[in-house]
Order: sequence, then C-alpha cells, then structure tokens
Amino acid sequence: MMKNAHRVLEQYFGFSSFRFGQEPLIGHALERKNALGIMPTGGGKSLCYQIPGLLLDGTAVIISPLISLMKDQVDSLNSHGIASTYINSSLSYEEQSQRMFDVQRGRYQFVYVAPERFDSEGFISSLRRTKLSLIAFDEAHCISQWGHDFRPSYRSVVGQIQKLGNLPVVMGLTATATEEVTKDIQQLLSIENEHVVNTGFSRDNLNFQIVKGKEKHDFIQDYIKTRPKESGIIYAATRKDIDRLHQWLSREGVKVAKYHAGLSEQERKSAQNQFIKDEVTVMVATNAFGMGIDKSNVRYVIHYALPMNIESYYQEAGRAGRDGERSDCILLFSARDIQLQKFLIEQSLMEEEKKTEEYQKLQQMVNYCHTDKCLQEYMLTYFKDPFRHEPCGMCSNCLHTGEIRDITRESQIILSCVKRMHERYGSGMVAKVVKGSKSQKVMETRFHKLSTYGLLSDLKEKDITQMIQFLVAEGYLAVEDGKFPLLRLTQESLAILKGEKTVQMIIESASKAHQEIDVNE
Ligand code: ADP
Ligand code: ZN
Repeated sequence: MMKNAHRVLEQYFGFSSFRFGQEPLIGHALERKNALGIMPTGGGKSLCYQIPGLLLDGTAVIISPLISLMKDQVDSLNSHGIASTYINSSLSYEEQSQRMFDVQRGRYQFVYVAPERFDSEGFISSLRRTKLSLIAFDEAHCISQWGHDFRPSYRSVVGQIQKLGNLPVVMGLTATATEEVTKDIQQLLSIENEHVVNTGFSRDNLNFQIVKGKEKHDFIQDYIKTRPKESGIIYAATRKDIDRLHQWLSREGVKVAKYHAGLSEQERKSAQNQFIKDEVTVMVATNAFGMGIDKSNVRYVIHYALPMNIESYYQEAGRAGRDGERSDCILLFSARDIQLQKFLIEQSLMEEEKKTEEYQKLQQMVNYCHTDKCLQEYMLTYFKDPFRHEPCGMCSNCLHTGEIRDITRESQIILSCVKRMHERYGSGMVAKVVKGSKSQKVMETRFHKLSTYGLLSDLKEKDITQMIQFLVAEGYLAVEDGKFPLLRLTQESLAILKGEKTVQMIIESASKAHQEIDVNE
C-alpha cells in the first residue's frame, strides 16, 4: 500500500521522498486507523491527508477553520489535476447547493469546509448520501477546550459526524498541541496512542531572541536597515500601535503595509497581496495576519508587544522561515506590556476559571522573557516535546556572554522577605523592602521593621526586580494568578531557604546588554 503512496507522491506532487512523520501517518490512514499528526509548521501536514484521500475510495472532507486558505489549497489541488472544491460562507447560497450536489455525485476527491457547516442538518444529510474516504481535521487543536484557540463550533462537529453512520477514517493534524490537548483530541476523535505521530515541535532554523532594555523603535530601525530586501512581519497589539509604526516606517522609506481589523476587507486583501508578492517587505499587523497565508520566505518576525501565551507566540513567530532557511524571531520585551495583556484578560468575557488559566499562561510567557536557558529548549519543554534537545546555540540566551553569579544569598533574602510579607505583595513592593526604600507605602505597612528590610541595599531596585523575575521563571517563586501578581513561595523555595540548593544567574554587564542582539550581524 505504501508503494502506491510513493507513486502518488511522485506523480501528483513531484516529490521523491517523504518528510519525517508523513509516512507512518499516511500508513495508518490507509489501514483505516484514525490517526493524529503533530508536526511543526511547514512540516508537510497537508500531504498526510491528501495522499490517503487520493488512494482511498470516495470523497475526502477536510475541515479547516481557515477560510482564507481554502481557496488556495483547492486551486493548488486542481492545478495538480485533482478535482477539488470548497464550500463556505463566501459563496452564494445557490453556489453552495450546486457544489454540495456535485459532492454527492462523487465529482470531487476533496472538499474543504469550515466547521460551522456541520451545524446544518441539510449538510449532514447530504454527506450521509456521499461516499466518504476520509475526514481530516486541520488545525485539530481548535477542537480542544484546553487549546489556546478553542472553537466551540469545531468541537460540535465531533457530535455531528457521529450522525453520518458509516464513519470513514478520521485524521487530526496540528502544529501545536500540549499533552492535555493531544489527549483531548484523541478522545474526541477515537485515536489510539499507537496512531499518534508526533515529530516534535522543533524548528531548528528559527533563531529566537529577546531584546530587553532597548528602545523598541531604535531596535527596529537598526535591524531593518541591515536587511532592506528581506520580508518580515512586525506584530503589534493595538491598531493605534500599528498605524503609528506603519506611518513611521513609511516615512523612513521602508516598503511597508499594514493589516488590522479596523481596515476594510479590500484594504486588508490588498495589503496581504502586496506582502505575498514582495511589493512590500515589511508587514505591520495584529496576530490575525498570517493565519492562512502561505509565504515561505518570511525572514523575521518581530513582536513589538508581548504575546498572550507561549502557544500564540510559537505559532506567530513560526510564520518565519517556513522554507527551512534561517530566520529570526525577536521579542521586544517591556514590562509594561504585561499590564496590557492582563487588562485584556480582565476585560474579556471568560469565566473566572478560564481567566485564571489565562493568567497562568501569561506568566509562562513572561517567564520565557526572563529565563536564562536556551529559548528554543524552553519552548520545547513547554510543549513537552517528545525528543531531547541540546541548547540551540544561536538564540539570545545561548549567545549570552554575561557572567554567572551565585545569587543564593540574595535569593534567600528575597524569599524570606516574601514570607515575612505574608505572600501578599508583588515584586515591586518586595524589591522596595529588601532594598530598604523609605517610600510612603513601605512606611505605612511598617515593613521597614522587618528583619529583611534593607538587606540588599547595595543593589539597584531594578536589579532586585530582575532577580525576582528570574526566581519566578525558575520556579523558586510563584506568582499568584489573578489581576494582581502576588508572590508566593513554592516547594522549591524551601530547598533554597534551607540552604539545600544554590541559585546561579547570568548577570549581564550594562554594555553587554546592548550588544546581545548584534552578535550575528
Ligand atoms: P504544514 O501544513 O505542515 O505547515 P504544508 O503541508 O503546507 O505544511 O507543507 C509545507 C511545504 O512543504 C509545502 O510547500 C509542501 O509542498 C512541501 N512538502 C510537503 N511534503 C513534502 C515532501 N515530502 N517533500 C518535499 N516537499 C514537501
Ligand atoms: Zn538556544
């Protein structure tokens, strides 16, 4: 059977060999086993359902939340001589029924639909009369409520397809799935452990960098100046920021377009096309941009603001370098951005429990900015990547040249101060107390009477705060989840307080902090 798969790979797609993970996944589908593929962006997920779709009898239904991608994928299949179509709300009602009618007649090998389609009983009964080869859930993490991009309509598809009676092979595909999400998808789609193919999340060509303590505009200006012909995306959080960045870069003579929800569909389409056709080199956008865009030569992704969680960050940053060439993923960190993300969570209509979860995820994003471990490793650990990884050797932490210092004593002072303050204050206040600040708030709370007051008076308050952030990133302190980030001790804190464990931290000298990004230029 796999021989046929090879033949199809060559004949239809013109490729001579499979990529890592494609073969087993295709094999499972051909043996009619439900399967789940977890592969990084650009890993070649589409072929995993396209080849079984071609080899198995009947029509393959591909469910995708990315309406903007459907047309491109369908056009591409048709250009390879594979009869395909899509049905979604961008078509007139007549066109939709015509296409559905043709699907029922077995005219197509592939039909792409949005999850919402399954809300229609008419659609379900049409499908029941269609001979199906396979149902594929693209972006399968969207069906899990544990996922960062949960879509209820996607989850209800699962119930709806049960009504089809004779269910064909089901395949899920995703680039981001935590263990929880993976289990959830498996359960919803009835996928056995042995049919989960996880190639890991590693994107070895991505060079992750965190830039702290540098004026963001200065950084962007210097960075773009050295690579005027390369394509890049700058993600910002608000329309206002995007408009401002766009205006500023245009004035600087950069070929730049912008994309956000305040623009008309026409404007957004045109911006997107300009970027894809390399008429502009830089796109300033909200994270909505890039979702359904197949542009493989994006050389850098800069985050002007803090993303809300690691999942989103990895996905957005991962829009760089889909062609496998080395590309930069740069996060411009400023502590102020944390407040904006908190505000967005607070303002949202999520239930309390969900909010708490979002605060936790945000904290892990912040921890990423403060860790001194390899950034690539940090993320792979976060995603519980099944493979062991060495430090990448190129991220801003791997290239760090700061000096390693033992900060056990400082850590003990900070931790015991947190305890003495009854774990009811945030990092700013704790820093003030150990620094020995005479601020009104310290006096009012009478914390100047604590035995830990002023024990770190020889350090700058800013450096103390950085140490606290580092302790949080390392799990030696926890942040109480919620609107106000209160510091709490953890199991790990005790080992340090008891002197059973030491703490090391890389301390940069001021001049080095500014060099950290220029290393590979
Ligand atoms: P994903 O959906 O996982 O992000 P795609 O399915 O869009 O990735 O594939 C990414 C690129 O890799 C596409 O240009 C595709 O044609 C190419 N590709 C997929 N499989 C192979 C293969 N076996 N050999 C060579 N190129 C491949
Ligand atoms: Zn690294």
